[in-house]
Amino acid sequence: MTIIDGNLISNQIKEEIKESVTKLVNEGKKRPHLAAVLVGMDGASQTYVGHKVKSCEQVGFESTLVTLDENTTEETLISKIHELNNNDAIDGFIVQLPLPKHIDADKILLEIKASKDVDGFHPINFGRMCLNLPAYIPATPMGIMTLIERYKIETKGKHCVVIGRSNIVGRPMSILMSRAGIDSTVTLCHSRTSNLQEECRRADIIIAALGKPNFVTKDMVKPGAVIIDVGITRVEDSSKKSGYRIAGDVDFENVKDLCSYITPVPGGVGPMTVVSLMLNTLQASQNLIYTK
Ligand code: NAP
Repeated sequence: MTIIDGNLISNQIKEEIKESVTKLVNEGKKRPHLAAVLVGMDGASQTYVGHKVKSCEQVGFESTLVTLDENTTEETLISKIHELNNNDAIDGFIVQLPLPKHIDADKILLEIKASKDVDGFHPINFGRMCLNLPAYIPATPMGIMTLIERYKIETKGKHCVVIGRSNIVGRPMSILMSRAGIDSTVTLCHSRTSNLQEECRRADIIIAALGKPNFVTKDMVKPGAVIIDVGITRVEDSSKKSGYRIAGDVDFENVKDLCSYITPVPGGVGPMTVVSLMLNTLQASQNLIYTK
């Protein structure tokens, strides 16, 4: 059994990005510049945005953090997005989700210019991804694909079960795993799937992205399967200073010895998400997907 080390791979990629930035700067080009918009004071969102800003520093990017009050109106947020769309100094930007309840996230994401949508959530990028055209790929699925590639995990002809069909993880994951060249046969499961345990037992690769701690148990895993755990749930834990611990969707301790590869939580998929956002921003700065 191999524990997939997301910290190791993400640090390697950060070094590679840093080298690319140094090269760009030496050629007299500008540093890639990522902006993040944070609305409100959600603790987890603040942590995620903080990681993104810190990663920008580590790889030599410029970063701008736009913080807006919890009560910001949809109109104010949209006008901020238009400002970022039109600011040539900024190569790409993200709007941190979730947004406060009074703001329609779908409406907001549509306002982001596709060429700056480094989260890959805009329908233009999503559609281009489905059609195998150059596109920004959503960061978490992109990070998982990178782990699979760097660990040389066989995907051709394998049966992959994805649990969860969200637009940011499960659904794009199912599309990427079934692409020509990756060639897995994909089953996309969700809360209405009737025979989920059976589906999992037939899987060569399980990608769990539902947000339910310890959901994937030993009896659901075929010996030798590859397990990718995307889940991040804060679980109360009085032994921790913070009062909580982070739990994945897989019962890691009881599943690990059964499988060929497994990602831990934390330290698996999580660090890959941030580094994939950096890769998308690097591409944006070089106009590799869209010409400005
Ligand atoms: P989401 O939008 O809440 O979607 C959850 C999906 O799981 C839905 O499609 C839902 O089905 C399905 N589901 C829920 N309960 C289920 C059950 N009992 N059986 C089968 N399917 C079930 O969540 P998300 O944004 O995709 O995130 C999923 C998890 O990944 C969360 O823990 C999140 O924190 C984590 N995450 C981690 C990263 C990272 O960087 N590691 C990034 C993003 C998200 P329905 O569609 O039928 O409701």
